[in-house]
Amino acid sequence: MGLIVQKFGGSSVASAEKLEKVAEKIINEKNAGNDVIVVVSAQGKTTDRLISEEKEITDNPSKREHDVLVSTGEQITIAKLAMLLIEKGYKAVSLTGWQIPIVTNSEFGNSRIRYIHKETVLDLLTSGNIVIVAGFQGVDENLNITTLGRGGSDTTAVALSANFNAERCDIYTDVDGVFTADPRVVKNVRKLDKVSYDEMLELASLGAKVLHNRCVEIGKKYNVPIYVKSTFEKNSVGTLISNQKPLEDLIVNGVTKDDNISRITVIGLENKIGKTYELFKLLAENNINIDIIVQAFGETFIKNITFTVKMTDLNRTLKLLNENKEKLNAKEILHAENLSKVSIVGVGIANKPGVAAKMFEALYERNINMHMISTSEIKISVLVDIEEAVNAVNSIHEKFFK
Ligand code: ASP
Ligand code: MG
Repeated sequence: MGLIVQKFGGSSVASAEKLEKVAEKIINEKNAGNDVIVVVSAQGKTTDRLISEEKEITDNPSKREHDVLVSTGEQITIAKLAMLLIEKGYKAVSLTGWQIPIVTNSEFGNSRIRYIHKETVLDLLTSGNIVIVAGFQGVDENLNITTLGRGGSDTTAVALSANFNAERCDIYTDVDGVFTADPRVVKNVRKLDKVSYDEMLELASLGAKVLHNRCVEIGKKYNVPIYVKSTFEKNSVGTLISNQKPLEDLIVNGVTKDDNISRITVIGLENKIGKTYELFKLLAENNINIDIIVQAFGETFIKNITFTVKMTDLNRTLKLLNENKEKLNAKEILHAENLSKVSIVGVGIANKPGVAAKMFEALYERNINMHMISTSEIKISVLVDIEEAVNAVNSIHEKFFK
């Protein structure tokens, strides 16, 4: 007996019929004697729909009003789910982010949780209620509604788990856990029973799209065991994300791709101390996230720096660099679009020789050219042309998981 947090994503709550399944999962935990906090997303594609309706009004919405709009989807789900549970004879109360409140900073559209008040939720739990919380939303210190970024309901769920010291956080979705690759891209994927927080962080940020990255960061920081499970499969055990390590690690746990990549090269920077810093300071000040970086030397006294940014940041990065070309003393700024970052992730990578060779062999066998390579303790990433990405992931997956 303890406190369990359950989170149900958009596809799990998409219709009244599906909400029945969700109610069943909640009632099972409640009947087992647990206190239950439930976090839900907006139904189905509601958030996408709200965003397209917004576009009918303006291309440049006020950030504050954007959050007021996109946060509404979750409010519908919490009300419906609470009604359904009450209908079934259970005590349930729905709460929006501001009713708890979940206090965030004021970065609309991508706000971060500062703290979560305990009283309201604890009082409701103590008096026997199932507490149903709207995911993805909060409120800033000036009582403005904020949202946590797309996919942010996962983060709401794990933050609540940490705040109320839950035994575990169950993230229910339409797949039965975390796999060695995206089942939509690769045929013979395997489900992973256990993944460490660090591996999951890499998998999430590399484009595995199973969880909101920040929820894994919170899980790691507060040691919340996170289970990813299927809402619809009976007796789904899912994948456990925790500090627990399997007795013997697979060398590689997953192969992923991220299609949202572009590459920029700044040619002819002066080879002087501080030049590289100047360039990246400029990017940082403008909130541009850099991923892979390679510095190469051309002629004497000159260096070229290549790095990747998200496709969605490409235009403003190029604009910024061209505006500052003179100041940076750069000769030329080149770019390439439509690249994909294909990566392998696993805690075993650092300690095992030959992993990179095996990955590169898989690409060589399919005649796929690598544009950039980057490695860390637990991952190896390469850039390939976007048209080759699916082929690359399949070839690498076959090599490691045959
Ligand atoms: N409804 C929000 C979204 O679609 C939050 C979430 O589903 O986690 O991004
Ligand atoms: Mg999600």
